[in-house]
Amino acid sequence: MGPARPTERIVVVGASLAGVTLADAVRRQGFTGSLTLVGAEPRAAYNRPALSKGVLDGTATDADITLPPLTCDVDEIVGTAAAGLDVDRREVVLEDGRRIPYDRLAVTTGARARRLADLGAADPGVHETVFRDLDDARHLAAALRGRPKVVIVGAGILGMELASVCAASGAAVVVVDRQPPLLAQLGRYLSDLLADAASAHGVELVHDPAGVRLRGTGTPVVELAGGGRIEGDLVLSAVGCAPNVGWLARTGLLTDGGLRVDARCRAAPGVVAAGDVAAFPVPGGGHRRTPSWNSALEQGRAAARTLVDGDDAPALVPSPYFWTEQFGLTVRICGELPARGTPALLRGGPPSDGALLRWSDAGGGATAAAVNTRMPIARLRALTRPEPVPLEVQR
Ligand SMILES: Cc1cc2nc3c(=O)[nH]c(=O)nc-3n(C[C@H](O)[C@H](O)[C@H](O)COP(=O)(O)OP(=O)(O)OC[C@H]3O[C@@H](n4cnc5c(N)ncnc54)[C@H](O)[C@@H]3O)c2cc1C
Repeated sequence: MGPARPTERIVVVGASLAGVTLADAVRRQGFTGSLTLVGAEPRAAYNRPALSKGVLDGTATDADITLPPLTCDVDEIVGTAAAGLDVDRREVVLEDGRRIPYDRLAVTTGARARRLADLGAADPGVHETVFRDLDDARHLAAALRGRPKVVIVGAGILGMELASVCAASGAAVVVVDRQPPLLAQLGRYLSDLLADAASAHGVELVHDPAGVRLRGTGTPVVELAGGGRIEGDLVLSAVGCAPNVGWLARTGLLTDGGLRVDARCRAAPGVVAAGDVAAFPVPGGGHRRTPSWNSALEQGRAAARTLVDGDDAPALVPSPYFWTEQFGLTVRICGELPARGTPALLRGGPPSDGALLRWSDAGGGATAAAVNTRMPIARLRALTRPEPVPLEVQR
């Protein structure tokens, strides 16, 4: 792919963090041709991480969570999903039948909540509740006013953040998973830390290695494969997310149901992808989606460079950064996850009072976490290098 010419048309499909970042970066790169952004949601792009935090606990308003509007020259088509892609004619086909021609295409359609039904673990007709968008957050916030008993299936990041807000609202909360909370995502040390915090906040953690099944109709009952049933007024599935690639079916762009990109975010000639939808190359081979705020930002910027500069654009070297807020703990992490082994305590004491932790890996790099400790991300990231620089930590 060569550099983009001013007569070319760029179309970006998916108008959340990755899409908005990409569209803005395309203009910043100096592209003066036609730029169109297509988004399925009928509202301005918003900060999705706030949904399971400030939106749910009522401390964040719509204005607080709205992403800064695009100030560059972009044709925005909102509230209309792309239903298909005509690769031969280079046209995005919208659900209302319109066709949007492109010369270069960016796919930033993100992900949807995975359901237990998708995994074959729900009875037909079960009413499954998930949490992914602003409407989901508003519905759950309203339901919490009745102080229901909430059962959450999935003790990953989302499930535990939901448990935290639900418990703080006065709801009785049970979280069920095959594994201890956050073990697969964050590693043993942080798993233990956050599980202890959850228990201290009254959340019941249930662990069944054999998994669960949703039974019944209407509000389901959670049946443990190892025996036993858990009932609640509200049952939430928080079992990960799946890429929004249905509209790309039969285009030849998908591999094993996913959209793979290379280190320049190229999915095919003239097509880039970024954010939760994109499976990025991982060291040692293979591809993996990295659904996080920071990945969507850095991939959005990298994909924009590729769209504008073509094959001369630099390869993206990811700088993993992630954060979560739950049970009175704010954890910010730089480096590869899950973090294995016991970390060195660089600063602080009991993590709830503020601590800086560092896990060394065999390759000389490291993962660093700041727990209830405010510090610039660049400084936290510096701790992931082989020789950490001294830090002044601001609490
Ligand atoms: C509740 C919640 C809490 C989170 N908390 C954190 C956190 O604490 N820390 C962190 O690092 N990350 C967090 N994340 C992850 C982070 O929000 C995502 O990684 C980020 O939003 C990804 O941005 P994206 O633009 O790639 O995808 P998305 O935000 O999923 O946006 C994709 C957009 O594309 C649209 N779309 C889909 N299909 C089509 C179509 N066919 N046509 C047109 N438009 C389409 C969708 O409607 C959506 O607006 C959280 C996510 C959720 C859901």
